[in-house]
Amino acid sequence: MELRLSPEESQIAQLAEQVAKDVLAKHADAADHGKFPAGNIAELGATGLLGVKIPTEFGGLGGNNIAAVHAIRALARACPSTAVTVAVTNMVADMILKFGDAAQHAKFLPNLCNGTWLAGSFALSEPSAGSDAASLRTRAEKVDGGYRLNGEKLWITSGDVAGVVLVLAKTDPAAGARGISAFLLQPGMEGFSVGRHEEKLGLLGSSTVSLAFSDVFVPDANRLGPEGIGFEIAMVALDGGRCGIGAQAIGMGEAALRVIATAVEARKKGDRTLGTDQGAQFRVADVATRLDAGWLLVLRAASLRDAGKKMAKEAAMAKVFATEAGNFAAQQAVALSQGAALDRHSPAARLLRDVRVSRIYEGTSEIQRLVIARHLAASVS
Ligand SMILES: Cc1cc2nc3c(=O)[nH]c(=O)nc-3n(C[C@H](O)[C@H](O)[C@H](O)COP(=O)(O)OP(=O)(O)OC[C@H]3O[C@@H](n4cnc5c(N)ncnc54)[C@H](O)[C@@H]3O)c2cc1C
Repeated sequence: MELRLSPEESQIAQLAEQVAKDVLAKHADAADHGKFPAGNIAELGATGLLGVKIPTEFGGLGGNNIAAVHAIRALARACPSTAVTVAVTNMVADMILKFGDAAQHAKFLPNLCNGTWLAGSFALSEPSAGSDAASLRTRAEKVDGGYRLNGEKLWITSGDVAGVVLVLAKTDPAAGARGISAFLLQPGMEGFSVGRHEEKLGLLGSSTVSLAFSDVFVPDANRLGPEGIGFEIAMVALDGGRCGIGAQAIGMGEAALRVIATAVEARKKGDRTLGTDQGAQFRVADVATRLDAGWLLVLRAASLRDAGKKMAKEAAMAKVFATEAGNFAAQQAVALSQGAALDRHSPAARLLRDVRVSRIYEGTSEIQRLVIARHLAASVS
């Protein structure tokens, strides 16, 4: 694995750092008070960062997975809510590029990449299908010229603001995971409605909603890929998405490390600062080491994906370790900031609330461990 960035990767990473500093950081507090960061999305649309891997002819940056994880990490350091919105939009754009036809590329990619649409959304989870995604119940019945969709999705990031929602639904309920297909739905389709807005612990600027489909007619032209490959599309999406969420957690963890560095210097113990205390130094060292280890795992998974290699196990390792490292960093930031972190909108408290969900979405930590163990078992049998 090459750790040095190519000039193109470096350019994208620097671009993301610049936008994070100049734009996202200024609106992070508003996002933490529940304001969807629409202004940030418009600025990001002008840079191409909404479609890091999408060819420039469609408004993306033509980059790779290494560039994408650098970008998400940089955005997450400044505003985790914007980072997750952007990560999901990138994931949806990647799937349309990979599995879509020329007409779908032309129709969806420019609007996603240039910010005309605030987001792309990925709708897999349902009330009774979270970790066990293949048991989803949303039904897509074949009719003349298209499909009729009925069902419900839960916890969908940006589902109310997205210009396109990638929906997984069963076209052949008897065929299990092989009976799932993918569809591109758009707001305004008759029978497609947005339900409850979740009142979350953190990531308050990211919108999370339920979606309902009541006899929604979806034309054949909006099926993504052939019938029956929807679960494969979801898994390919999640392998890449897990690198992105790992990167998001590392970005938040690094922001927490900055909070720690400031807190231990500011806090006096007699005539010494807390930073000279060995107990505090050990904590700082552990946070920094875990974050670096998590980041290296993210880079390994991203570079395997760039090389076209299988990386489901490595993506799971990266996600579980990086998100737990990010959570550890935020916990230590709260511990070392002490009283100052009791304000729920203080940097440490915000990071602790924001980072928690990284261990849940795109597969919980337990599911990542199952994926890793199953791959290991398969490799020895
Ligand atoms: C803020 C937020 C945003 C989200 N955004 C999206 C989105 O954009 N699109 C989307 O499709 N989904 C989204 N989700 C849903 C998310 O992916 C699911 O919440 C997650 O997959 C877990 O599913 P669940 O909540 O149904 O929990 P469950 O699957 O019911 O799991 C409950 C607990 O049991 C554990 N568990 C479950 N099965 C096993 C097992 N076999 N072995 C060991 N432990 C197990 C889990 O790890 C967890 O701790 C989002 C969730 C949140 C919180």
